[in-house]
Amino acid sequence: MENHGQHPNRMDLFTQCRNIPADMAARALGVFIHHGGGRGWALCPLHEEHKASMMFDKAGRWHCFSCGRGGDAVDLWAAVKGMAPADAAAELWEKMGRAKTWERK
Ligand SMILES: [Zn+2]
Repeated sequence: MENHGQHPNRMDLFTQCRNIPADMAARALGVFIHHGGGRGWALCPLHEEHKASMMFDKAGRWHCFSCGRGGDAVDLWAAVKGMAPADAAAELWEKMGRAKTWERK
């Protein structure tokens, strides 16, 4: 059965959201990213800092060299919003996944 545009099941939700680059999710969360050395950098939204130590790589993942946290777009959404991963994946899908707003044309 064609499932296009419908809410995917829970397993698919994580898989689908994993395709969303973390930097695109960060932008949707209002995080400003600048580029340097082939990577994206931002002030980590998970704590107070004045020197950007949150890094976004080309694989679509993130890592903060200050607090040591990192992961994929779902992990970022969950961490910034203080949500459970399943809730974060559902919201991320609603905001970005369904419309595929992260796809660079
Ligand atoms: Zn941090």
